[in-house]
Amino acid sequence: MFEQQKVHIEKVDEITVSPLSNKPQEFVRLLPLHEETKHRSIQRRIKPISLDEDKPEGHTRFVCISDTHARHRDLIYNVPDGDVLLHCGDFTNLGKLEEVIDFNDWLATLPHKHKIVIAGNHDLSFDPRLMEDIRKTKREGGYRRFQFLDQISEKYTDDWQSVLSNCTYIQDTELKVNGIRIYGTAWNPWFGGWAFNMKRGQPLLDKWNKIPGDGIDILMTHSPPAGQLDVVQPRSERVGCVELMNTVQLRVQPKYHVFGHIHESYGISTDGCHTFINCTTVNKELAPSNKAVYIDFPTPEGA
Ligand code: 5GP
Ligand code: MN
Ligand code: MN
Ligand code: MN
Repeated sequence: MFEQQKVHIEKVDEITVSPLSNKPQEFVRLLPLHEETKHRSIQRRIKPISLDEDKPEGHTRFVCISDTHARHRDLIYNVPDGDVLLHCGDFTNLGKLEEVIDFNDWLATLPHKHKIVIAGNHDLSFDPRLMEDIRKTKREGGYRRFQFLDQISEKYTDDWQSVLSNCTYIQDTELKVNGIRIYGTAWNPWFGGWAFNMKRGQPLLDKWNKIPGDGIDILMTHSPPAGQLDVVQPRSERVGCVELMNTVQLRVQPKYHVFGHIHESYGISTDGCHTFINCTTVNKELAPSNKAVYIDFPTPEGA
């Protein structure tokens, strides 16, 4: 079981942009050096619940995976059963229709009663802004990367849920399962101009500001917050979002924050108040070798 939440962090109503938005490494380095932020700097690894362990009575079991990158049929570990499957994006490599259909077919083979999926930066065709851009440059005869995506019918890209018929696809939305509040969003810090890329600072904060501040239990994002499971190799550099960490620790305070994206930083950690899970399935060599991670969440009375 995860250890108890010990640290109290004072809640605020509003987050303002940090002067260190573009310097997550520096933001994390400075946290323990200031009296006002010291208590937010804890990073402790937590042991996962063994996949053989029975679900405790009165709990809802979430099975968290991410970053399968169209390798879902090559997983080294089977996805274990549970009440709810959570997938935190990068389920395709390029957002091609055939990749999405195959992922959806694979989802049908899994036993979970509920399946909740968000997109990642690799699920290109799920970003309406990017698709509009691609179609516009095609109409104007210009060159653009990813132009192969313009062959996907608007009928699908305007309504991916009709293709992803074996799960609930969410984007900037909240969902309740067994009385447990879940929020999911694909936005991630700009890196190479892929899907749901957004500039650090105010643009990303505007997206995080859509997350309700009144008791989300499980937050799903594609990318990590600055300071927890966000280290890229080979230079051990932190690339998580500063505004996302401020939002999680100070405004939203979900019990669990689940994400993927940084393949080098699979694992579970805590700041003493929240539990962070990077459940990327592929490792840094892109081998689909990481196990799913369980969350056993106490089911609220009457749910
Ligand atoms: P993906 O392309 O699947 O979204 O991410 C794969 C890898 O790209 C990550 O494991 C990480 O090594 C690298 N990466 C992704 N986003 C960033 C970023 O914002 N900065 C840096 N330096 N590397 C990133
Ligand atoms: Mn990539
Ligand atoms: Mn990925
Ligand atoms: Mn990614």
